[in-house]
Amino acid sequence: MAIQTINPFNNQVIKSYEEMTPDAVEIAISIADETFQHWRKTSFSQRKVLLHKVADLMRSQKDVLAKLITLEMGKLIAQSYAEIALSADIVDYYADNAETFLEDQRLEPEYGEAYIKSTPIGVLLGVEPWNFPFYQVASFAAPNIMAGNVVLVKHASNVPQCALAIHRLFEEARAPEGVYTNLFLSGSRIDEVVADERIKGVSLTGSEAAGASIAAAAGKALKKSVLELGGSDAFIVLADADIDQSVDWAVIGRMNNTGQCCVAAKRIIVVEEVADEFLTKFKAKLSGLKVGDPMDSDTELGPLSSEGAVIQLIEQVQRSVSAGAKVLLGGKLIERKGAFIEATILGDIKPGMAAYHEELFGPVAAFYRVKDEQAAIDLANDSPFGLGGSIFTKDIEKGKRLAEQIDTGMVFINHPTWTQADLPFGGTKRSGYGRELSSLGVQEFVNKKLIRVS
Ligand code: NDP
Repeated sequence: MAIQTINPFNNQVIKSYEEMTPDAVEIAISIADETFQHWRKTSFSQRKVLLHKVADLMRSQKDVLAKLITLEMGKLIAQSYAEIALSADIVDYYADNAETFLEDQRLEPEYGEAYIKSTPIGVLLGVEPWNFPFYQVASFAAPNIMAGNVVLVKHASNVPQCALAIHRLFEEARAPEGVYTNLFLSGSRIDEVVADERIKGVSLTGSEAAGASIAAAAGKALKKSVLELGGSDAFIVLADADIDQSVDWAVIGRMNNTGQCCVAAKRIIVVEEVADEFLTKFKAKLSGLKVGDPMDSDTELGPLSSEGAVIQLIEQVQRSVSAGAKVLLGGKLIERKGAFIEATILGDIKPGMAAYHEELFGPVAAFYRVKDEQAAIDLANDSPFGLGGSIFTKDIEKGKRLAEQIDTGMVFINHPTWTQADLPFGGTKRSGYGRELSSLGVQEFVNKKLIRVS
């Protein structure tokens, strides 16, 4: 895939970039490795100054940065602003808290003294996706730079201007060269970087295929990986839920980022008693969304990230329909230039269909009606993915009991799965392993070193 900005609103090619040569990659790795040797010795206060500066710059440049996101991957402009704000908060959060999270941990052995010291491990590689081009990088880079590691970031090939803008933020904040480095590389050249012995760990957010490939390369080289992959979150509505509120949250949970979130509410599971009411209201809200230019603040349904993404999604819809699924709303491309697809609801989905097992990365909701709570939980768990999920009920204690039965990394009660700096983010099963954000996100790439005094 070429490294290019293509505006998905009108498929116009805006800018193209050359991939780095093998020599340029070698120079980037060796500078990062040299820089690590002194960055590891800097104090938390020095690192904190750098990251606060990056966060401040992000906020002061928010107009330019938000527009870049919308230009390159089609996010609604208000959501692009929200992404910049959240990314700056994440950077500040680690600047303020990493020292506490990584402080020595005293142990109480039977005799003598012992403690665990968290030490940085070296140059890390982050392979990042286009769907949240700033947030994903902030979640990887901020904790690791605060921990004393340095990072190389290979961003998705369709968001090169976002990738360069983040690199520039670190330059403007006067980060020593090599603390943060953008790599313009295609996915197919990542294995050689992972294999380099100066790279000590790799973190990927993306598809299952990319995850399996990176994990294999990391395993072969005996180094740690963290994987944040796809999801097919269940959004469960129980009979006692506030239906109007649940519908509003379902619209946000399914349609945020035009449905291209790993934790989007992809499977809407509603108990029989309230299924008709829920579906009627859900359909009405989705069919009323205003389609248009994502740069216009009154647009409610923008394009997907690329023409390729639309083709893949429509093909999943068609395979499901051929196998017996019913289109309850939408289901077609929108007749206009750009990567547009109608807000869609599929029903009558059965095991064996694409919509049952695969991740639907766009504005397509899989709608299920089930006879009771147990059936809802069983269906939620019958998925290869295990990322997030949500339950809507007025009975919070029941919500918690059911949440504990859902086999995922996160369950939210009366809210779609969401993210914020101080809550851990990650999954189980084919959604990957490891955690980002909170105190956990900074522990993934440090050496937990035991110091023992006898
Ligand atoms: P990819 O997984 O292909 O892309 C994510 C990142 O991984 C990009 O930087 C990409 O680089 C890189 N990459 C791709 N293949 C490899 C590889 N073999 N080795 C190393 N790095 C690789 O996602 P797509 O953009 O193709 O989207 C496809 C599907 O993936 C979506 O429909 C969705 O289901 C899922 N996805 C999930 C995301 C999430 O948030 N969990 C985010 C993005 C996608 P390059 O761009 O150069 O190919």
